[in-house]
This record gives sequence, C-alpha cells and structure tokens, in this order.
Amino acid sequence: SDFFDCGLADVVTNNLRLAGYTKPTPVQKYSIPIVTARRDLMACAQTGSGKTAAFLVPIISRVLETGPVEVPETARRMEGKQFPVCLILAPTRELASQIFAEARKFAYRAKIRACCVYGGTDFRSQFRDLQRGCQVLVATPGRLVDLLERGRIGMDAIRFLVLDEADRMLDMGFEPQIRRIVEQDTMPPPGVRQTLMFSATFPKDIQVLARDFLHDCVSISV
Ligand code: AMP
Repeated sequence: SDFFDCGLADVVTNNLRLAGYTKPTPVQKYSIPIVTARRDLMACAQTGSGKTAAFLVPIISRVLETGPVEVPETARRMEGKQFPVCLILAPTRELASQIFAEARKFAYRAKIRACCVYGGTDFRSQFRDLQRGCQVLVATPGRLVDLLERGRIGMDAIRFLVLDEADRMLDMGFEPQIRRIVEQDTMPPPGVRQTLMFSATFPKDIQVLARDFLHDCVSISV
C-alpha cells in the first residue's frame, strides 16, 4: 500500500512526493483512512514512528475538502483576530516547531497558512505573523491560553483538534490549560470537530482525557 490510493487531495499527495515519502509508516497506514473517514482517533505511538505526518497529511487534505469555515460576526471582536480550522497542541517549543515545519511542507501550494506560537518569546512578532492569516495553528498550551484571553485567536472555526504527546503534556502540568482551551464555549463540540490524540503511554489520566474529548473514537497502537 502507498500514499497514492488513500483518497488524499492531489496537492497533498504531490507534497508527499516532494518530501520523498513513498511508503507510509504503520501509524500513517492506519491513521490516514480513519481521519479521512471523519472518525476520532486515539493513537499510541512513539516519536520516530512518523506520527506527525500521520495526523498532518489527512488533516490538511480534509481542511482543503472542508473549505472556509464561517464564523459569526459577534465572534470577531478584534481586528485581525484569527480563527484557525485546525489546532495542534504540543508540549514544547521544540516539538511545536517540528510539527510546524512539517505542516508547511504538506500545505505547500495548498492556500493553507500555518502558524506556530509558544511561550518564552514576545507576543508582538507572533501577533504580526498570526495576522497574515492562520488556518493551521500549532501551539503550546500556555501561550495559546494567553492568546485566547487577549482575544487574538478564536476557537469558533475549529474542525480538527490534535493533542500530540498528550502524556508529556500532562506530565508537564498542562492539564488545566488544555481543559481551558478544549472546554471553552466557543470550541465546537466532539462530533462537530474531529479530535485526534497521540500518546506514547496510556495511563488513567490519558484515558480520562480521551473519554472527555473524543467522540466514538477508533484506537490504534503501533
Ligand atoms: P515523527 O515520528 O513524526 O517525528 O517522524 C520521524 C521522522 O521520520 C521525521 O524526520 C519524518 O520526516 C520522517 N518520516 C515520517 N514519515 C515518513 C515516511 N512515510 N517516509 C519517509 N520518512 C518519513
């Protein structure tokens, strides 16, 4: 099996070719049809398994398929406020930056703009970058809570939500921030948004998060 018979958007298939990805890794082979079939996913997968492309590739294809998402006028309180369609939460700046670099590769020539925000850097350059447009947002939880509170980002248009390295995010104490983000009133509920969780381990607290955030999910372990 390869990437070219999975029903992915042509531009994404082409970007896979440009990236030199010919054969999907196991996690990619399982996740792509699940995401394409609009199901939620809980995946146990380690770093190095190809998990980044396992969520980015089918999501970017689905974002293209979904097209622009309208948000109510009342949500647009601030000039330049952005309403990403896809949100990816990651524990660290390093991981967020890696995901962002992959997102740019797969979204090349797809009219999808990706942004990356994390703590420890000033807001102004991030605001400027966000204002140029943001359909796919990669973020660490703390910085995203700040941006939501400052009214720079709205969750109203989210159709795809990914929690990457969920166990590490919980180990780092991000559960309150994650719940702030995912449980806000403007976040579309499970079923309206598609949610994917990736975790290397599957302890009780991850199971609880999966129960709270996922809707009728498919579980895979690679
Ligand atoms: P990840 O587990 O997502 O951090 O990916 C590990 C590494 O494998 C990254 O450098 C990817 O660019 C690379 N990679 C992921 N999937 C493929 C694939 N299907 N073919 C070739 N390289 C890949």
